[in-house]
Amino acid sequence: MAKSGMRHYGVVLCTLLALISSVVAQAGMGSSAGIGEDSVSGLVSPANITSGERIDLEGHLELLEDPDGTLEFEQVQSLDYAGKFESLNGKSSNFGFSTSAWWARFTLANPSDQSREVIVRQDYPLIDWFDAWYVDESGLQQHLATGDLRAFDTRPVEHRLFLIPMQLPPNSERTVYVRFESQGAINIGLFAHAPVDFLNMAVREYLALGIYYGGFLVLLIYNLFMYLMVRERAFSYYLIYLASYGLYMSIHNGISFQFLAPAYPFLVNKALLVLLGISLFGGTLFSRTILNSSEISPRGDAVAYFLQMASLISAVAAPFVSYHFMIIVLSVLTVAICVHMVILGLLALARGTGTARYYMIAFSALLLSVYVYMAKTFGLLPHNFFTQNAFQIGSLIEMVLLSLAVASRLNELKAESFTDALTQLYNRRYFNDQMAIEFARALQNQQDLALIVVDIDNFKQFNDTHGHAKGDAALKTVAGILKANVRKPNTVCRYGGEEFVIILPEINEREAVFVAERIRSAVERETAQGFGLTASFGVASLHVERFESAEALFVAADHALYRAKESGRNQVTSYHQKDDTPVRDQRSLPDSA
Ligand code: GH3
Ligand code: MG
Ligand code: MG
Repeated sequence: MAKSGMRHYGVVLCTLLALISSVVAQAGMGSSAGIGEDSVSGLVSPANITSGERIDLEGHLELLEDPDGTLEFEQVQSLDYAGKFESLNGKSSNFGFSTSAWWARFTLANPSDQSREVIVRQDYPLIDWFDAWYVDESGLQQHLATGDLRAFDTRPVEHRLFLIPMQLPPNSERTVYVRFESQGAINIGLFAHAPVDFLNMAVREYLALGIYYGGFLVLLIYNLFMYLMVRERAFSYYLIYLASYGLYMSIHNGISFQFLAPAYPFLVNKALLVLLGISLFGGTLFSRTILNSSEISPRGDAVAYFLQMASLISAVAAPFVSYHFMIIVLSVLTVAICVHMVILGLLALARGTGTARYYMIAFSALLLSVYVYMAKTFGLLPHNFFTQNAFQIGSLIEMVLLSLAVASRLNELKAESFTDALTQLYNRRYFNDQMAIEFARALQNQQDLALIVVDIDNFKQFNDTHGHAKGDAALKTVAGILKANVRKPNTVCRYGGEEFVIILPEINEREAVFVAERIRSAVERETAQGFGLTASFGVASLHVERFESAEALFVAADHALYRAKESGRNQVTSYHQKDDTPVRDQRSLPDSA
């Protein structure tokens, strides 16, 4: 069993290594992916700005790579370079990491008799230096210099993306040059919108983003209060994970730069990878805690600990090390942690904890969303609101479910704190709580409540003769007999040592004595072959006397127990019996109890 588990672990580790190498390969290949060699320049047509429709400019783009990033606009625009631009020719305009500057050129045509406004949108907001040159309506050359390394107020329109608002005179053509330079990935995604079309899109998009980050904020506040109330560390780790992941996503979307720190582009840029590192750190720490991985799989936990600390080190190092290097390290860590968390989740699931179930559903939601997003990207699923935003929807669902997982973990911990480790019966703390509740209920409803106190006879001697280990085994056996003979709504608890208590709501004294007698004979009979134990029983009930408090009822039952011991042990005595006649001789009790 353990051996096959190890083998599975090995298989998963190999898969993991394969995944990592593919990520590294991709990250490395990014910079070499360029424009098609066989593309013919000058074949792209101008984009006709006609009605209100949206135009993907990809088919109208021509690109020029400037490996040193030294070319000036005047050079690029001159005839020397005019023929060096190449069309994309069906190739992707996502260049991954590139140290080159990339020049994009496209022409917008307005064939109508009216002047038209156009908004050109760059769909990816993490470009460090984004420069655009275009001719305005009066024929003047304009230079827009913005990018996420320049202050937010360099943007002509306050928006999370880069926008170039332009005006095209009637029957005119305007050629636009855009220069991209970035330490991160260079994704060129240019679109031309009519202003109304753009407005409609922006309203919907910001509403969706508002819902997304609103969800994060509510979860953050809710779980912060939960943490302050119960002080369970799983909540604090969850908060680290949630906050850093939410902030990371908001930088990715350009939202943080717009609303949180518009004047600090440098800070926002540096924060991206730091937050990714913290998020991986917090997520791993959280998973280890909630899955209780150090107990479930010490080896798996050690791996998780290594990944967690590697993430932390990456977060600390990120501002000082090259972006390109860090993004590779963090990509590898992301894949490794995702795979490893699934392994730990499955191991915990095999143990059958409720928390692990929540955790795995949460994780599956995230992975499914990644899959949907990928499937959309590769054309296997249609491009719509849900597939486009799958990743965000999935991550929000994940966070909600993880918050439920914390609550479930809390329940587990609470149950543990009410359970006696040796016998797995409820412990004394539970007895005290439950007794107070049942006593109050009985008073309120004017109902009966009986209590049986059980104490094993001469157990010290048993221990001295057979040793403590066998004593423990005997305690477990007796606990098992008690459990087997006590049905809901009655509860049996280990009060301490070799003493047990049974709470019997709505049971009168005669019935309680009958139950006690049945258990007494069961203990005697069922341990006869092995341990040879007997126990004494004290019974008290509200039926006989209106006790002041739950404690008074307990004292009365304990008093009855004392008299049972005095009268020779292995018998049931109830509190009201003034004479010391053992109850087990009275065989006239009802069968119904
Ligand atoms: P009596 O019939 O009067 O109840 O005698 P007794 O020996 O059972 O009572 P006493 O309270 O003097 O001794 C209880 C013994 O139970 C003492 C201790 O050795 C043993 N005991 C208490 N808790 C445990 C336990 O968790 N494991 C084991 N093995 N023994 C325990
Ligand atoms: Mg005893
Ligand atoms: Mg005792």
